[in-house]
Amino acid sequence: MFTANMAREWVKESSKKIEGNKDELTNLDQALGDGDHGLNMTRGLKAAVEQLDEDTDEPGQVLKGVGTSLLSKVGGASGPLYGTFFIKAGNHLEGSKVEFSELASGLRIGVDGMKKRGKTERDEKTMIDLLEPVIEVMEDRGNDLTPDHLMDRAKKSLDMVMEYGAKKGRAAYYKEKSKGKQDAGAQSSYYIIEALAEVIKKEG
Ligand code: ADP
Ligand code: MG
Repeated sequence: MFTANMAREWVKESSKKIEGNKDELTNLDQALGDGDHGLNMTRGLKAAVEQLDEDTDEPGQVLKGVGTSLLSKVGGASGPLYGTFFIKAGNHLEGSKVEFSELASGLRIGVDGMKKRGKTERDEKTMIDLLEPVIEVMEDRGNDLTPDHLMDRAKKSLDMVMEYGAKKGRAAYYKEKSKGKQDAGAQSSYYIIEALAEVIKKEG
C-alpha cells in the first residue's frame, strides 16, 4: 500500500540523494550537456520539499504538488519532463490508500506523458531508459512488488543506458561518442527510484 506519508518520504529522500550527489550529476551533465543538471534537480526538489502538502492523506495530491514545484522551479529540459511525470501520475491516483498496482498505473501514465512531452522513445539515452523499465517491473509484479525488484531493474537499466548513443537533448550532439558515458537524467532517475525502494522497504 502506498500512502501520502510514503509519498512525502519519497520526495524528502529523493531530495537528500540528489543534493548529496549534486556534483556527480553536474559532472555527468558537463561531459554531455551544459553542466546544470545537479543544480537544476537540487533546486527543484528542495522547492518540492518546502512546498510539500503536509495535510493531505492522498498520495496523488502529494505527487501533483511535487510536479508543480518541479515545473516552476527547474528551468532545464528536466523540469517540464519530471514535472509532467509527477503531475500525470498524481492525477491518476485516487484516495488515501493506493495499491502498488495502482501506483504502477499512475507512474505508467506519468512516463507516457514524459515521452510525449519530450518527443522521446526508449533507447535514446535519457531518464526514460531508467524509469520505463522500472515501471514495467512494477506493472509485472503488481501488489507483490518488493524494493529488490525496483533496485534490480534500476541497476540493470543504469548499466544499459550507459552504452547507448544519445539521440535527445543536448547530449544528442555527441551521438556515438556518448557511448560509455552516463546520462545525467538517467542517474537522477536512479536516485529517485532508489529513494522509492527505501521508502517501500521501511513502510510498505
Ligand atoms: P538541459 O538539458 O536543458 O540542460 P538538464 O540538464 O536539467 O536540462 O537535464 C538533462 C537531462 O534531461 C538529460 O540527461 C536527459 O536525461 C533528459 N532529457 C533531455 N532532453 C530530453 C527529452 N527530449 N526527452 C527525455 N529526456 C530528456
Ligand atoms: Mg543540462
